Amino acid sequence: MRVDSAHDTTLKTDLLIVGAGPAGTAAAIEAVRAGLSAVVVDKAHFPRPKCCGDGLTTSALRHLDELGFEPHGLPSWKQIDSFVLTSPNGRSRTYPLPGSAGLYAAVARRSELDTELVSLARASGALVMEGATVVNVEQSQSAVTVMVDDQARAERQTIQARFVVAADGMWSTVRKLTSTDRSNYRGDWHAFRQYFVGVDGPAADGLMVWFEEDLLPGYFWSFPLGDGAVNVGFGIVRGEGGKQIQKMKTLWPELLQRPSIRSALGPNAEPEEAHRAWPIPARLGQLPLAQGRIIFVGDAAAATDPMSGEGIGQALETGRLAVTSIIEAGIDHPTSVRDRYQTQLRRTMVADHRLAGMLSQLLGNPRVAEAVLALTGSSDWTRRNFARWLFEDYPRAAVFNPWRWKQGRPPQVGAYV
Ligand SMILES: Cc1cc2nc3c(=O)[nH]c(=O)nc-3n(C[C@H](O)[C@H](O)[C@H](O)COP(=O)(O)OP(=O)(O)OC[C@H]3O[C@@H](n4cnc5c(N)ncnc54)[C@H](O)[C@@H]3O)c2cc1C
Repeated sequence: MRVDSAHDTTLKTDLLIVGAGPAGTAAAIEAVRAGLSAVVVDKAHFPRPKCCGDGLTTSALRHLDELGFEPHGLPSWKQIDSFVLTSPNGRSRTYPLPGSAGLYAAVARRSELDTELVSLARASGALVMEGATVVNVEQSQSAVTVMVDDQARAERQTIQARFVVAADGMWSTVRKLTSTDRSNYRGDWHAFRQYFVGVDGPAADGLMVWFEEDLLPGYFWSFPLGDGAVNVGFGIVRGEGGKQIQKMKTLWPELLQRPSIRSALGPNAEPEEAHRAWPIPARLGQLPLAQGRIIFVGDAAAATDPMSGEGIGQALETGRLAVTSIIEAGIDHPTSVRDRYQTQLRRTMVADHRLAGMLSQLLGNPRVAEAVLALTGSSDWTRRNFARWLFEDYPRAAVFNPWRWKQGRPPQVGAYV
């Protein structure tokens, strides 16, 4: 990247990445390693709070591993070897993840995870600007010119990039500035989370999920963070007009008092801070994936899984795929870049999302949810394989696409072997 002359303070770079969450940092690390210059701007200063369940699937862990991310120094890092699902009728079953080599699931506070990813992007050679908010985007045939409000220097910086990766999350400013669609998309799910400390019930060490009848196809979770801290929360489908969401605030204290949740947390559990709420965008393929010299990734592409609400693995994957599409098609061939990115996504993740969306609708019926959990919990084999499928050890829809069987075959080891 370079500034052209004393008069022209425009910063020029191959790639401008907007957003330094998992999608943006993955794109930055991948880009710099491939020899592209990369600038990352984020309106926040890190560590920044992020409303999330903090759960990492096998797919997310594999991407982190491949990016060279070192997780073991994170204070809240917790490896997960099994989890407990409680069905609508109150029956709990334990699902083991493979005991074979490697990691299949983990939990880490997003404030820590994202800060470390930003450090890794910097160490890899990307220029990361914190407190820098994108306020305008203009495209020409050969470049994208982006105006950034730089809080630290109390001035506006112009950045000219050959490509922009929009990794700016659910409310993507880049999408709003470049789209003619004014439908005011507000997400497909809505979720609450709150940290608790002093937890001394089974939730202190175990990852637990409750399929409460009134939340279906959503669920309540408690994810352990070590030292008696947990991340608890729940997510529900948004529904028409967002009426469900209005009920969430009153539902929250009531859910925390439900006997099985209360006893899992133990009598001494208390909130660390106020709860936070945030929407979950889960309609990959229905919002713009690319436009001109801009590629949308992660939550900005609505890439979150429509059944589980997991989006970190999808953010890492789409961030990396955007960059490999640019490199393989050539940075001077925007049409080929867009085609490559969109085709690749439609053949893989969009198919997975369609299946997950259908399953999610079925799980909305308590009797179906009960039957699915009874079936998946019926033997050691079903529990093990359901656990791997749920934690994205292999692509969701792989079993229904013969041509993907080879691609989707579960690897024999987890991440970080
Ligand atoms: C309550 C809840 C629980 C969840 N639990 C899980 C879970 O357990 N596991 C899981 O895998 N997923 C979970 N998800 C989903 C997951 O949090 C997201 O899918 C993931 O954070 C998406 O990453 P991203 O990099 O695309 O976007 P983000 O992490 O949202 O990052 C976007 C970044 O863009 C920056 N930005 C925004 N606008 C601008 C601008 N104008 N200029 C500059 N920067 C800007 C923001 O500051 C932010 O840092 C959960 C979501 C919610 C709401």
